Amino acid sequence: MNLICEQCETVYPFNPTRARCDCGGPCRVAGAPAFDPQRVEREELSLWRYQHAFPLPGGSGRVTLGAGMTPLVAAEWAGRPLLLKCEYLNPTGSFKDRGTAVLVTALAAAGVERVVEDSSGNAGSSLAAYAARAGIWASVYVPAHASPVKQAQIAAYGAGLVRVPGPRTEAARAVLAAADAGAVYASHVYHPLVHHGIKTIAFELYEQWRRAGLDDGGPAAIFLPLGHGSLLLGLVQGLAELQAADCIGRMPRIYGAQASACAPLASAWQQGSSQPVPVEEGETIAEGVRIAAPVRGRAVLAAVRRCGGAILAVAEARTRAAQRRLAHMGFYVEPTSAVAVAALDEMRDRLAGTAVVILTGSGFKSPASG
Ligand SMILES: [Zn+2]
Repeated sequence: MNLICEQCETVYPFNPTRARCDCGGPCRVAGAPAFDPQRVEREELSLWRYQHAFPLPGGSGRVTLGAGMTPLVAAEWAGRPLLLKCEYLNPTGSFKDRGTAVLVTALAAAGVERVVEDSSGNAGSSLAAYAARAGIWASVYVPAHASPVKQAQIAAYGAGLVRVPGPRTEAARAVLAAADAGAVYASHVYHPLVHHGIKTIAFELYEQWRRAGLDDGGPAAIFLPLGHGSLLLGLVQGLAELQAADCIGRMPRIYGAQASACAPLASAWQQGSSQPVPVEEGETIAEGVRIAAPVRGRAVLAAVRRCGGAILAVAEARTRAAQRRLAHMGFYVEPTSAVAVAALDEMRDRLAGTAVVILTGSGFKSPASG
């Protein structure tokens, strides 16, 4: 296996301690194993049932908190059937645990003792928890405006919490300086192993969809919140592996949802641009997608174009209303998750077939009021 830079195409031998290219670009894993339905460990009720599809060195001991196998729940939204993938039920309350489980397993196997990460909260909490589980020391850089609940969660796991004033880009800059000084950068945005954990959402959707006896073609559309694009790109990677293994006949349309206050990819989509449009980092309650300069923006735009979906911008009021409506249906999620459901409203009249929405993070992290 190799790592290939997505910016300058430099090739490195696979090494889990390398988060990104010397040029600063993100890498992908070349020659990684892929999904094989015959090799799913059916007795294992966590994402480790798909270990055959992870680019991990042989003999890596699993670092697990039980992430994965989250419920796919049938619901109704504006009079239409909908399936909700409840990722907020993962061990630290967000989908991030999937990428972290695979990443920290690889880092622990490589003997890493210290890691750093920058995060608006969920990735930081997840890394703090898995680092604690593996006996690795973690320092997490968060923007000072990040939810106090998320900051408390990071600290509770025993990680070092570094609060950085200013926009999120400042936290990113500070952590890059720490990584350049020698710590391993366990980045959810850059590290190529993260996508391989997140792709298990697609594998589970496939298994759950079949078990429910739904249409053989799979879901018609998948809606998800879109910040840097790790969730979207990991999911598309998993769907592509399912398609290559003849498990699904077609790719679902993929709809990425951004907050209007900070929507570099939705703006690019509207303008037909192949790269993110520079925007100011505006205030939004959907802090998980408050990303002005998405690192893998070009790849996200290309993936959505290939899948035939769209990238949508959602106004704050609609996000708030969607969060409330979800809670009134029994689904307690944070505003970042509600952005994806609000985007479904925008597309309502143009959608055929069943849609799935990924509910990414728990309401305990950023509660709605009544
Ligand atoms: Zn490069």
